[in-house]
Amino acid sequence: MGTDTAVHEAPPVRGGRPWPRWPRPAAGAAGALLDVLHSGRWSIASPYGGGPTREQRFAAEFADYLGTRHCIPTASGTAALMTALEACGVGAGDEVIVPALSWAASASTVLGVNAVPVFADVDPRTLCLDPAAAEAAVTPATKAIVVVHLYSALADLDALRAVADRHGLALVEDSAQAHGSTYRDRKAGTFGDVGTFSMHHTKVLTSGEGGAAVTDDPVLARRIEHLRADGRARAGRPPAVGLPELVETGELMGSNRCLSEFQAALLSAQLPELDALNAVRRANAELLDGLLSESGLRPQDTSAGTTARTYFGYAVELPGEEFPGLTAAAVGEAVTAELGLHVRPVYAPLYASPLYAPATRPRFALGPGHLERLDPGRYDLPRARRAARSWLTFHHSALLGDAADMHDIAEAFRRVLSRPSARAA
Ligand SMILES: *Cc1c(COP(=O)(O)O)cnc(C)c1O
Repeated sequence: MGTDTAVHEAPPVRGGRPWPRWPRPAAGAAGALLDVLHSGRWSIASPYGGGPTREQRFAAEFADYLGTRHCIPTASGTAALMTALEACGVGAGDEVIVPALSWAASASTVLGVNAVPVFADVDPRTLCLDPAAAEAAVTPATKAIVVVHLYSALADLDALRAVADRHGLALVEDSAQAHGSTYRDRKAGTFGDVGTFSMHHTKVLTSGEGGAAVTDDPVLARRIEHLRADGRARAGRPPAVGLPELVETGELMGSNRCLSEFQAALLSAQLPELDALNAVRRANAELLDGLLSESGLRPQDTSAGTTARTYFGYAVELPGEEFPGLTAAAVGEAVTAELGLHVRPVYAPLYASPLYAPATRPRFALGPGHLERLDPGRYDLPRARRAARSWLTFHHSALLGDAADMHDIAEAFRRVLSRPSARAA
């Protein structure tokens, strides 16, 4: 399948019509970037200029948007996760439970703080960390659980919070794919001891690269602040204009994981458009759910407490009983050829991903037996393995189109799935 359509030909279903582009600059983004350019203040480490940095302003806006007390912007989602884990006390040799389906950062950040990622299986309908599997993975060495809200689903936060509390573990809520979703009418990212966000260019709120860690706990917030600015923190009272604003407190050693003033200005310009764009994606996704269900496909579910979904990706299952012998990879390739839109299998199980390869980094060989604890061969998680074979996903930018675009996507699936080869076992 898919090989009969050469790449240079127009995609049959679409003809020449383009898909919406991403990222999309908000009104005011260009002016905000120019303001920073001429301000002489490009970093939070620049001399004090007489008012709050762009970074402080964005932090206050995003904290207000989420309904959380503290927001510490970071250079990336990866940086936010690493500072969150260290702020929660995770260190050398500790175990951190992570979902078996996620982006590579869910494992690499745990390795990055010298801890051991322990993969747990996912719920077969939401693809998010299964609370029972997470609880079964707890050992005396466990320090934290990292929950990931994947594609458009929110994990079962009630159950995961209860597991963490029962075992005295920190809960880190990776909301890199969930800016603006709500669970019991409260924003995702505010349920963990720390919530983390990515503002990478693929994400629904973006400055190209960027991130943030959020918390209600002032002690964790202060630790994160130090961890991301080389052990420095902002003084309680601003200094005289022209003097440094960050104080070398010596409280906690850190690294440089700061967001630049350009990125902060861009995020402040983009944030006011987030809810409206999320609503467009949600309406289109709901239309598409109905259309694809008619063809026997099963759109991704979300946990019962979800009150508003954010679509970072649209994900759908090809049920094996309906389409025996079909692999997601082959269908994805054929649908991609029909649409000129990249439709591909969901993440591979993280322990089987080529991006999880701790043995390639000498820094992770901490001591005798440590590399064995990191060995991906320890795992075979059937639900994650099955998902990689039978689910497809595409990026949220396509959901910024109109109803006709959703009908095109459904038509492409219909064509591909009705070919004789699709029904052959
Ligand atoms: C994107 C992403 C990250 C990493 O964010 P970066 O900004 O790319 O470092 C972490 N976790 C999840 C679930 C992500 O989707």
